[in-house]
Amino acid sequence: MSIPEITIYNTLSRKKEIFEPLNTPNVGMYVCGPTVYGDPHLGHARAAIVFDVLFRLLTYLGYKVRYVRNITDVGHLENDADEGEDKIAKKARLEQLEPMEIVQKYTDSYHHSMDLLNIRHPSIEPRASGHIIEQIKMIQDIMDNGFAYEVNGSVYFDVVKYNSSNNYGKLSGRVLDELMENTRDLAGQEEKNNGVDFALWKKAQPEHIMKWPSPWSTGFPGWHLECSTMSSKYLGDYFDIHGGGMDLLFPHHECEIAQSQAANGKDPVKYWIHNNMITIDGQKMSKSLGNFITLDELFAGNHKLLSQAFNPNTIRFFILQAHYRGTLDFSDTALLGAEKGLSKLLNGIEQAKKIVATDSTTSDISKLKAECMKAISDDFNTPVLISHLFEAVRITNSVYAGEETISQGDLKTLNSIFEDFATEILGLIDDQNKQGNNLIDPLMNLIIDIRQESRANKDFATSDKIRDVLSELNITTKDEDGGTTWTYDG
Ligand code: ZN
Repeated sequence: MSIPEITIYNTLSRKKEIFEPLNTPNVGMYVCGPTVYGDPHLGHARAAIVFDVLFRLLTYLGYKVRYVRNITDVGHLENDADEGEDKIAKKARLEQLEPMEIVQKYTDSYHHSMDLLNIRHPSIEPRASGHIIEQIKMIQDIMDNGFAYEVNGSVYFDVVKYNSSNNYGKLSGRVLDELMENTRDLAGQEEKNNGVDFALWKKAQPEHIMKWPSPWSTGFPGWHLECSTMSSKYLGDYFDIHGGGMDLLFPHHECEIAQSQAANGKDPVKYWIHNNMITIDGQKMSKSLGNFITLDELFAGNHKLLSQAFNPNTIRFFILQAHYRGTLDFSDTALLGAEKGLSKLLNGIEQAKKIVATDSTTSDISKLKAECMKAISDDFNTPVLISHLFEAVRITNSVYAGEETISQGDLKTLNSIFEDFATEILGLIDDQNKQGNNLIDPLMNLIIDIRQESRANKDFATSDKIRDVLSELNITTKDEDGGTTWTYDG
């Protein structure tokens, strides 16, 4: 089996590399999922869409991908210095619910938004709280190897000792001496040998709800540990791809490497991939700036920065118009532009299905298809791919207008460009609706035929009923010389 070559920018080596899985055609891919304590927002959408396109591309190319994306339901504290309240416990307190009710509520909310964005489900979606035993075992291994210590029932990773025989900072490029300088005077670090050390296990205060017994205390695991444990459980100690947002690079992913290396002597990941962040009108998204927009608000148009509701597909298209490693600035104007662009593309895709082929072709369609493949294979360059798709739309419109011609074979290739790249890989046409959409045309033709027959037979009760119901559904029919056409006006 021959699979086309693709290149990936590896954060670890800081360069593009040819993608060679450890065990072709199998690929193991782990992506850090959400901490479920609030409704998902644009940042969640970008990470999920970027890795969905990677998942789709690898599957399209013939790889068998096991895609693991976790749900963080315990252990993510309010700050990175291992202090503060657990984010989920805090939300539970504010909403007067059980922590697991919060987890269920926001996991459902996340899934709902991801489905609307046409994100394929991961192969496995493990939860941190379902892997406490594995996390305790990993802490034990790290302690046995001398890279962690216990103080008052809590266990900390000894970064300084680890760094004497390994490179802490190899992924993020941070330098330990500088980190030590910066963490020296932080509050709440008294138990640690050093401010840079991080918690593997925290002893729970009496009021803490989510806690489990362990050899050290009744407590809860550190946030970084869950991903090391669940990735190795489902993908092995050394696997192909680990992804996540750039904000997770440090300390989360740096600590994951340290934990795996300390527990089993192995660097856990071959390719580290990070998507960049979203800014809003040039600013970081934050609740205090009032520019924090949830996906529900975007879909409903229910936020002061929005002029209207936006279709999830428009959000998806907007995100894919930028390369995943670049920042993406969100604004209402930019989304309105994306809406127009997507509609032009989708109209082109529909129009290409109606084109009539002739004997010869005026544009080089095979070359265009090869360029589409080249763009997506080059570190998932979705903006360049989209520009090629617009070239395919231009050709479609020209042929439709009689300015260009296309042969039968090339017409097939043209349609396959849209099918393979717009639908399969970029996911711009809803997978679930795809099947339904195929049914709509023949069913509408049947209804229009029945209406015409009833009119010809002077059965006006039936023809009027069909007209009225279609009108209630916002479907307009138009009788023309070549037959009846219909449009749906939302
Ligand atoms: Zn993670």
